[in-house]
Parts: sequence; C-alpha cells; structure tokens
Amino acid sequence: MSAAARPELSVVVPVFNESESLGDLHHRLTQALKQLGRPHEIIFVDDGSGDGSADVLRALHAQDRAVRVVRFNRNYGQHAAVFAGMERARGDVVVTLDADLQNPPEEIGRLLAALGDGVDVVGGRRVSRHDPWLRRLASWAVNRVTSAVVGVRMRDYGCMLRAYRRSVVDQILACQGVSHFIPALANTFATSVAEVPVAHGPRAHGGSRYGLLRLLGLNFDLLTGFSLLPIQVVSLTGVLVSILGLGFAVVLGLRRLLIGPEVEGVFTLFAILFFFVGLQILALGLIGEYVGRIYQEVRRRPRYVIREVLE
Ligand code: UDP
Ligand code: MG
Repeated sequence: MSAAARPELSVVVPVFNESESLGDLHHRLTQALKQLGRPHEIIFVDDGSGDGSADVLRALHAQDRAVRVVRFNRNYGQHAAVFAGMERARGDVVVTLDADLQNPPEEIGRLLAALGDGVDVVGGRRVSRHDPWLRRLASWAVNRVTSAVVGVRMRDYGCMLRAYRRSVVDQILACQGVSHFIPALANTFATSVAEVPVAHGPRAHGGSRYGLLRLLGLNFDLLTGFSLLPIQVVSLTGVLVSILGLGFAVVLGLRRLLIGPEVEGVFTLFAILFFFVGLQILALGLIGEYVGRIYQEVRRRPRYVIREVLE
C-alpha cells in the first residue's frame, strides 16, 4: 500500500470466541468510524478461537477492504493479541476495543477528542459498569495497586477502550520483556495521559472469557512486571518486624529481671510465630515470582505464533 493510502486510525480488536458479536460489532464500528471521517483500518486478532469466529472474520475481510485479520494458532491471551494488532497497525493513532460490545464503538470519537496536544494516551473509564460486583471490587484494588506500581494514577486500568499515539505504540512494540499489560506499558512511556468516561454495556453473548485464575495470573504479572515495589515492601516489613522483635526481647528481659521468668503465654507466642512464618512464605513467594520472571526472559520465547494473515 502506498504512503498516501495509509490509514490515520487503526482499530485493534482482540477476539476469543466472539463469533456471535462480530457482525454487530463490525457494523457499529464501521458506522462510528464513518462519522469520524478519517481513513481507518480495523485489525481483528483471532486469539485461537474455536467457535467459528475465524469464518466470520474471513467473511468480514472479504466484504470490507478496511478489515485486516491476524490469526494465532492457539490462545495466547488478550494482551498478546492486542500486541500483535499493534505490530501490524499503520495508523498514527491506534484505538483498542473489546469484541464483546461492552465497549461501545460510538465512544471512539470522544477518545480521539481527548487525544489533544501533549496527551498521547487516552484511557476510557467505564461508568455504570456492567460486571459482577466482586469483579468490580477486585478491579478497584487492582487500579490502586497498578497506579502505585506504574506511577501514573488512573482510575480504570482494566478498560481496553483506549487510544494511543504512534510514538507510544512504537515504544510498546520495542519492549522485549515478557510482561505485556498494554495499558500499564503505555503509561510508562506516555508524556501525558488522560482519562475520559465511557459507557459500558452488558456482554451481548456468553460470559467473560476470563476465569478467576486467569485474572489472578494477569495481576501477578502486572505486579512484578512493572516494579520492584512489592519486594521492597517485603524488605521494609522485614526491617520493621526485626525492630519489633528486638523491642519484644527487651521487654521480656526486663520482665524477667523485675517480675521473674514467664512460662505462660506460650500460645500467644505461637500466634506471633505464625504471623512471621506467614510473612516469610509471602516473601519467598515474591522472590519466586521475580526469579520466574527472569527465567521467562532468559527463555526468550515468542509471545505468540501466527497461523494466518488476511490483508
Ligand atoms: N480475549 C482474547 N483472548 C483471551 C480472552 C479474551 O482475545 O484469552 C478478548 C475477548 O474476545 C474480548 C476481550 O478480550 O474481545 C475482553 O474479554 P472479556 O470480555 O472476556 O473480558 P472482560 O470484559 O470480562 O474483562
Ligand atoms: Mg468483556
């Protein structure tokens, strides 16, 4: 394709078993983009779907020149899919969007409007979120921790309705590490980020493609992939506990001199001991996380394997 025909806007959509939503999504997305009036491309990344999403995507590609499709050979996860889409995107601005219609395509205009001077990443913040309350509670905690770890305060790191400028996309793509929580990665490179409220719909078909374990895994990845803060907190706690232990010993020593040796209260000591043992196991686990991370880096395995590209 010649430089003149290069799209201004690339929309990247990760797809995992979304055959029922894709038709609707493509229709609404195309309408919304038409209204914006910018040359665009839509990149669907099929993350190893097994439900016929591939056939729907092939049909969409056949009917719409703006649609490009990348297919993985199996399921590598949403962020790997977005990464692959970004690698192929040619636009000056890349917008990411979920395929399940929970992110209304009609909000893209609002994201782009906020991508003004100096701002190179705009995140959507889901208002009146249609997810179970437990999931929302977990998200709240994750957003707090992620903000601390990344050092950029955002109220909704989990919302994938986002817009990125080319400069930030290139930085993300240059990251060789195994961690690829894209919103966090983007914020570490952005000069300035903005957050705009966006609508959030219920899932049109089926349930979330994330199980509890998967979410936990993603969050561990986030925690240890972006800073040494967790391990530093553990070290600090260790120092604090040692100081407390020392104080305790002094108190016991004085008590022995003034009142005599103590024999009771053994079980209290057990309680204290269990607390410390718990801390130690946590510390070990954290160290393990970092060691595991180094192991993954050393293996240098590809993030994904592509089976088919339609463009
Ligand atoms: N997704 C994906 N690979 C996965 C899981 C999800 O590409 O392994 C896609 C999914 O098709 C959807 C988006 O990522 O387009 C968000 O997934 P989901 O709606 O299940 O997440 P939730 O809305 O519950 O956070
Ligand atoms: Mg969803």
